[in-house]
Amino acid sequence: MSLIVQKFGGTSVADPERIMNVAKRVAKTYDQGNDVVVILSAMAGVTDGLIAMARKVSESPDNRELDVLLATGEQTTCALLAMNLKSMNYPAQSLMGHQVEVMTDHCFGNARILDIKADRIRELLEKRHIVVVAGFQGCDPDGNITTLGRGGSDTSAVAIAAAVKADVCEIYTDVDGIYTADPNICPKARKLDTISYDEMLNMASLGAKVLQIRSVGFAKKYKIPVHVRSSFSEEEGTMVVDENSGMERLVVSGVTHDTNQARITLKKVPDQPGVAAKIFSPMASAGIVVDMIIQNTRAEGQTDLTFTVPRNDFKKALKLQKEVAADIGAEEVFGDQNIAKISVIGVGMKDHSGVASTMFAALANENINITMISTSEIRISCVIEEKYAELAVRVLHTAFGLDTRE
Ligand code: ASP
Ligand code: MG
Repeated sequence: MSLIVQKFGGTSVADPERIMNVAKRVAKTYDQGNDVVVILSAMAGVTDGLIAMARKVSESPDNRELDVLLATGEQTTCALLAMNLKSMNYPAQSLMGHQVEVMTDHCFGNARILDIKADRIRELLEKRHIVVVAGFQGCDPDGNITTLGRGGSDTSAVAIAAAVKADVCEIYTDVDGIYTADPNICPKARKLDTISYDEMLNMASLGAKVLQIRSVGFAKKYKIPVHVRSSFSEEEGTMVVDENSGMERLVVSGVTHDTNQARITLKKVPDQPGVAAKIFSPMASAGIVVDMIIQNTRAEGQTDLTFTVPRNDFKKALKLQKEVAADIGAEEVFGDQNIAKISVIGVGMKDHSGVASTMFAALANENINITMISTSEIRISCVIEEKYAELAVRVLHTAFGLDTRE
């Protein structure tokens, strides 16, 4: 017998029929003798619909009232599921975020969980009840309803799993697991049986569509095994686990591409202490997240400095850097928005050599030019021209032996 947290996303509870399917699945897990806590999202499209409605009555809806409104999406699905389970003669009860005491900060629309008491969940489990909890919502220290940001019910699920010390947190969604690459551009991508928390965090561009990335941070901190699987089949999905839990350590377990970046270069920057600080402080003040940074030393006491920023922030960053360049006496500033960052990720890299050279050779074979490189313990990233992004993913997928074998 285990304590299992099961989270169902919007497509899994999109209409009353699907909610009845969820009830059957939950009941089956319960009948096998497990304790079950269910976390639900709103029906697919409902959160978007509520936001659209708010915009009809107000140009910029008040943040506090918007959270009151958005929380109703999850309230609806929870009530319907608990009702359905009760009509099937199962002891079930719905609870909203504040009843579970999901305590968050004051940041309406993107609140962070500070603590979860979960006493009522524990009391109900003692009585062998199925507990149905509204995801995505919490409550600030003043008792206001808060929401956790889009996709936040994943984070609710993992955080509640940690609070009640669940054996596993199952995330039921409309895909059957985490893939080695985006199957839309890499037809030979395959589903992974296991992936480590750190790999998952690094695969944000692949995984974020499946799991709110904040939830993975929680899972890692509290060592909660997360099972990402389809609510439309019985098949096992992907287990997101601690890398020391005996999982298979692939040298590369995923290839990701990110076409949301842009590059900025400052040419002939005086090579003096304090210059980098002058370049990056205005970025930090403007809230622009700088990703890769490369500095080259030229002769004559000058350097070139290149870095990447999110494409949305490109114009703002370029303008700021023109001011910085004038201030520090750099010769020129230029940028490029047509870039892509391609990464290979795998915990097995820690004890393998030659991963970088395999990556560079595979790209060279296709005549793809690399303009920036960065590495971490479990990731190598290259910046290339955007038009080669999809080709690069496919050739790297093959080069690292990830293709499906049929
Ligand atoms: N209903 C919320 C959203 O659409 C939260 C969630 O589904 O995770 O973002
Ligand atoms: Mg989601």
